[in-house]
Formats: sequence, C-alpha cells, structure tokens
Amino acid sequence: MSSLAWEIKNAALEMGYQKCGIIKIADMAGYEQKLSERIEAFPEVRPAMEGFFRFAHLEDEFPWAKSIVVCVRHYGRYIIPKNLKGLIGKYYLFDGRLDEQTDQYQDSVRFEDYLKELGLKVATERKFGITALRWAAQQAGLGVVRKNNFLYTELGSWVNLAAWLIDRELELKAIPTLKECPEKCDLCIMACPTGSLSQPYAMNRSTCISCITTWEGWDLMRDEHRAELGRWIYGCDVCQDVCPLNHGRWQETVEYPGLSELSSLISLEKILEMDEKTLEQVLKPKFWYIKRSDNWKWKTKAINAMVNCYDDRYRQPILDACNDSHPKVREMAEWASHKLNLV
Ligand code: SF4
Ligand code: SF4
Repeated sequence: MSSLAWEIKNAALEMGYQKCGIIKIADMAGYEQKLSERIEAFPEVRPAMEGFFRFAHLEDEFPWAKSIVVCVRHYGRYIIPKNLKGLIGKYYLFDGRLDEQTDQYQDSVRFEDYLKELGLKVATERKFGITALRWAAQQAGLGVVRKNNFLYTELGSWVNLAAWLIDRELELKAIPTLKECPEKCDLCIMACPTGSLSQPYAMNRSTCISCITTWEGWDLMRDEHRAELGRWIYGCDVCQDVCPLNHGRWQETVEYPGLSELSSLISLEKILEMDEKTLEQVLKPKFWYIKRSDNWKWKTKAINAMVNCYDDRYRQPILDACNDSHPKVREMAEWASHKLNLV
C-alpha cells in the first residue's frame, strides 16, 4: 500500500475530516448502472438526472485524473436553533460548502492546497461534488448507503462528503464494518411524507420535499404534495430522523458560526415581512439554492407552512401578503385566506 496514500489520509484527518479514502477513477463505473435503475424507476427525473452519467465517466472530462480522494466530515454535533427545527433541513443549517467563515470551507481549501503542494494536479467542485459523492465514499469503504439513500458512518447519516480528483494512481480503501439495514426495517419508507421514498435505495427526486422546497415548488398552491410538506420550507429530515441507526448520533454540543444570530431573524411571519433586499441579505448567503429571481418562493413556502400548521398568529401576515409586491405571493396569500376563511 502506497505511503503517499497514507500521508494524504493522515493529513485529511489532521485537517478536521473524520475519514478519508482513495479510489481509482474506474471504481465509479458501477454508478452508471445505479443511475440507470433510478431513472428507469422514476422516468420523470430523467431531465434532472441525466447529466449525472458524467460522474461514471470522469475520464471524459478529466483525462488526466487517475484517482479520487474522498473525505467525510461529521456535522451532527452542532446546536440546532429550536425555532428552525422541522422548518429547515439540518444539512442546510450546517452547510459551509460556500461559507468562507466556516471550518468546513477553510479545511477544504487547506486540504486542496496540501494536495497541490505534493505536486499533484487536483480538481474539485465544492457546491455539489465533482462526482457522485455517496457512491464514491461507499466504494472507498468509508460508510454504507442505506435504504433511505443517505451514506452512514458509525456516526449516522449526519456527515458531509467531499472529493478531489488527483493525477496519481493511488488506492486506500477501508474495510467496511457497518452492517446493511435490517432486512425488515422500512421505517424511513413508511415515514416519507410525500411517498418519494417509495422503495429501498431509490427515491423520486421530483416529489422529495428537499427538492420541492429548493429547486422546484413553482406552483405550490396546486402541487399535489402541497399539504404533505407540513412546515418544511427548505429541505426535509424525516427519513433520517426516524432511522433507528441515527438515534443518539446527534450531540448538540457546539455552536455553529453565525447560526444563532441568523435564526433570530427567521420565522414564517418574518419571512412574509421581508422585502427583496432583506431576503437577499438574510436568507440567500446561507440558503443559496434559491436564486435571486426566485426569492418570492420563500414567501409562498412560508404561506404553505402556515396553512398546513395554522395558528391564529398567522392570520394578519397572510392577509398582509395579499398586498405583496410579487403576484405569485399575492395569489398564494389570497388562496390561503380563502382556504382558511380569514376573510
Ligand atoms: S427527504 Fe423527506 S421527502 Fe425526501 S425522501 Fe426523505 S422523507 Fe421523503
Ligand atoms: S429507517 Fe431502517 S431501513 Fe431506513 S435507513 Fe434506517 S435502518 Fe435502514
């Protein structure tokens, strides 16, 4: 086994990662089959997922790349603001992929610099990964993908993954110690509010709440899964929260930089009061999946959550939103006020 591979792993562990492995580019080939099966099961996701086939053929885009360094970082240790629980998915609350103030971002840059200092050619993609990260991590023996499609380590599914392509043929795989999901367990499937997770190891992207509340949700009022969104306005944790293999794995011991201050600015009512500038300044830096031109979606999602979990304190904000500057917000607020008999 290469001493360089061990050096790289040890450097990753010193820089804040809990696990690091290295696989060959060819180890991604099996991902093609997995992706084909997913598209076959849910043909409607083809337009959104077809581009992912490139992850199984990295040699086309990166002919110089020989191996993939995969790292795992545990985030199930941060204090979760009470008012955001069940509203915003935990992955997004503790998402430092693009936040230069966070250890996650800084360690990623430091590790990349280290790889370059070794004389390696390196490529990465900090937003969504340069390849299929869960598949790569499983190939490296760093964890196991469970029936809810999340990669688990001994610390549960609350982990971030990152990968770097390098131009040296190296391999460092761990021997997996985690068992598969119990054969009879289907708690995550039964709990999925929209039925998106309708079978083990598969999920219909287009009906997943995480997708509806970020990339999609263009016409929430008429969305067949509108009511099933409950209070979620950005992401969903249900299939991870119900998993017994996650129980006790989140220890709220560390403050996440800036989150306490940010959380004090967020509530369903406060979102409805935000003007364009505030939406951009308060929400966008952290929750960057929503484009500036789609900021109105924050308000339609907030109205939807209010309708699904109505409380009298939402009455006036909904009525006020009937005069919002954006027609989509006005339409949704008017629909909500009729549905709830507020007028
Ligand atoms: S994230 Fe939520 S909606 Fe998506 S598959 Fe899991 S439980 Fe279902
Ligand atoms: S809930 Fe059960 S089936 Fe689903 S991921 Fe957890 S252990 Fe596996």
